[in-house]
Order: sequence, then structure tokens, then C-alpha cells
Amino acid sequence: MDKIQMKTPLVEMDGDEMTRILWKMIREELIAPFVDLKTEYYDLGLTHRDETDDAVTMDAAMAAKKYGVAVKCATITPNRARMDEYHLKKMYKSPNGTIRAALDGTVFRAPIVVSGIEPYVRTWKKPIVMARHAYGDVYKGSELHIGPELYEENTVSYPVRTFLLAEDAEGRRVRQEVHTFSGPGILQGMHNTEKSIESFARSCFSYALDQKLDLWFSAKDTISKIYDGEFREIFDRIYEEEYKEKFAQAGLTYFYTLIDDAVARAIRSEGGFVWALKNYDGDVMSDMMATAFGSLAMMTSVLVSPDGCYEYEAAHGTVQRHYYKYQRGEKTSTNSVATIFAWSGALKKRAELDELPELYAFGEKLEKAALQTIADGKMTGDLAAITTLPKESVRVLESKEFILAIRDELISLL
Ligand code: NAP
Ligand code: MG
Repeated sequence: MDKIQMKTPLVEMDGDEMTRILWKMIREELIAPFVDLKTEYYDLGLTHRDETDDAVTMDAAMAAKKYGVAVKCATITPNRARMDEYHLKKMYKSPNGTIRAALDGTVFRAPIVVSGIEPYVRTWKKPIVMARHAYGDVYKGSELHIGPELYEENTVSYPVRTFLLAEDAEGRRVRQEVHTFSGPGILQGMHNTEKSIESFARSCFSYALDQKLDLWFSAKDTISKIYDGEFREIFDRIYEEEYKEKFAQAGLTYFYTLIDDAVARAIRSEGGFVWALKNYDGDVMSDMMATAFGSLAMMTSVLVSPDGCYEYEAAHGTVQRHYYKYQRGEKTSTNSVATIFAWSGALKKRAELDELPELYAFGEKLEKAALQTIADGKMTGDLAAITTLPKESVRVLESKEFILAIRDELISLL
């Protein structure tokens, strides 16, 4: 059989631990035998990040900008323990954070729905895609403890008056009272920028159009009239000016509703929409959604930049505990589905951009093969623990066995 041809290379970002092991197996068993794979390879494994003083991460992000489509393996975000484990020169930042900042993107997370792994919510028939704004708010907040520790002398005299203060380049000031404390308390300031919210809105509208899904956006603008109100206004304006007609042509709708109403509606819905959320709301809701749909290991994630770059990855991490077992020569049963879908998503997007229908069809078949394997009862331990298939029809496979079972299924589809 002739291999399927590619035109433009994919930007391939390798990673760490168990997902690095899976990465190699997926590449060798599920893709390279069938596709004349062209990639520009960047090793974001922690050792190589350290060797390059993390320059490789920025190089990879720039390559993603240049070529437009990347696929990324999960990577370690170093902490104290990792500094010692890998003898690092520095506590490098999260590669995902670096790439996100470089591409100014929005992260979309979609559950992989398969028969045998049922959502906890009975009415959900289709995926709900979470779109989380990945800039600002409490993640870049400034906080104070109001109490004796405010001052060097370690004493404080109440009442303590607190303000928001804005000073422009000419030194003009506007001051607004937050609260007058008659006893100890806490205070927080946070921000966002019009530019970032506009990028977020455009990414959401473009992604929803691309996926042919309705878009919901929810915040709390009845309470936060200026802050959340600004988010709502920007979404409304960009929709009216740039997307209303395209949405109408595609038969799609956009609507805004209060976050508490959106939560209630999401639970009653049958799914099949994109739900855009502010940073904190998206952080919390996406973990709830992943679990409610079955498993974090069945969740894909794609970073979409406002100028149309795509970076695909699994939503889970490097599965450290399984890696240590693997290193000790013990058996592992690690779920590779989300990483496989990162590859298929990236190949399909590359195929769309380069007009390669054969490559697109391959991506679809790879996904179908993975889902059929699970539906047939061949699955990894994490799924076996939650499947609704009868116990006697379920076989728990090791990491590599599972990938080989998918390969058998894939060959039957090609
Ligand atoms: P994790 O790697 O997602 O794993 C947490 C637990 O979830 C695992 O121990 C495992 O449970 C289960 N799990 C996750 N993915 C699985 C899979 N594919 N198959 C089977 N089980 C799976 O998160 P973590 O342990 O918090 O983080 C480990 C490392 O990953 C950290 O260094 C972190 O910095 C990094 N991380 C990277 C990314 C990214 O690159 N996008 C995201 C998150 C975390 P059991 O052990 O109970 O089987
Ligand atoms: Mg979180």
C-alpha cells in the first residue's frame, strides 16, 4: 500500500514520562506505517528544555506560528521536586503557558464520547466543548491581607480604608473606595485587557463556526457590571460586527446568559455546543465536565490563536505514576486515546489547510478505530473501571497491547 502523502510539515512537540513512551508507540504503530509523515520535531522533554535553557519551547511556539498546526505531548511543569529529580538549572515556566502566551490563544477542551463510557448526565448525547479564557483575572491578581502584617511594625490601626487607584502617564489619578475595614480581612485586585478579551471572543466564534456548533458565553454581569459587563459587550459587539451573518448562514446561534443559568441549562441540554467561560469559571467547569463525561483521559485539548494557528494535545498530564511503574519494568495500562486524538486532530487540520482528502480520511479512520476498539470491550484499566459494558465482554489491555488492538482495527478500515 502506498503511504498517504503530506505537503506541509506538522510541528511535533515531544514531551515527558509515560506520554513520551505512548508518543513513540503511536507514531511508530499508528501513523508512520500509513502516512509519509512530515514533521518538524521539537523535543520539549524536560532534559532537553534544560539543555537549551528552555529556548526550545519558544522555538517550537514560533514554528507553530509559522506552519499553523502543531501536535504536543504532555510535558512536566517543573516544581521543587522536579528540580531535584532532573537536576535543573532553573524552575522553568509551564511550556503550555509559554506557548499560550506566544500564540495568544484560547484553549478548547472536548470530551471524546464513546459507547460503553457513558456520561453521568443522562441527557447528554453530544460533547460539550469548554472554551476557557487563558489570560488574567485572579491568575494575575494582586492580593493583600488586611491586618497587622500589612506594615513592617506588625501593628495596624483600624479602620483601614482600601481603594482602587488608577494613575495615567501624566500622573492623573482616579481613586475609588473598595472597603473600610474595622477588623482583619482580605483584598484582591485583578484585571483583563480589551485586546485579550477580543482575541478570546474571536477564537470562540471562529472555533464554533469551524466545528459547526452553537456558542454560549456566560458570566455574571448583573453583579459585576463593569468587569463581566465588558466581557459581555465585547462578545456582543464582535458577534454583531464580524460573525452574525456567518453564523446565520451556518444555521448556528450565539447567546449570552448568566453563568448560573448556563450551568442549569447545560445539565438539562443534550450537549453539542461550545461553552465559553472566563478564566476561573473555565478552570473549574472544565474539570467538572471532563469527569462528568467519564474520564480526564478521554478529553482532548486544542489551543486556537485568533490568527488561526492550532496546537493539539491531550488534556491530561504526563501520567507520572504509570511512568515510574514502566521504569521498574512493571506492566502499565495507560490510556493513549487523548494523545491519539491530538495526532488525528492535527493531521485532519493539516489536511484541511493543504486540501488533502486522503489524509483527512486517515485521521477520521484513526479516531474511528480507537473508538471501535473500546466499544468492542478492549480498553485500558481506567476505562474498564467505569465502563457500562458487561464485565464478561471487557478485556483490560496493557499500554502497548491497546495501541496494537487499535492498529488492527485501523488496518481493517483502510
Ligand atoms: P496526570 O498526568 O494527568 O495524571 C493524574 C492521574 O490521572 C494519573 O496518576 C492517573 O491516575 C490518571 N490519568 C491521567 N491520564 C491518564 C491516562 N492517559 N491513562 C490512565 N490514567 C490517567 O496529572 P498529574 O499527575 O497531576 O501530573 C503529572 C505531570 O504532568 C506533572 O509534572 C504536571 O506538571 C504535568 N502536566 C502536564 C500537562 C500538559 O502538558 N498539558 C497537564 C497537566 C499536568 P492513576 O495513577 O490513579 O492511574
Ligand atoms: Mg484546573
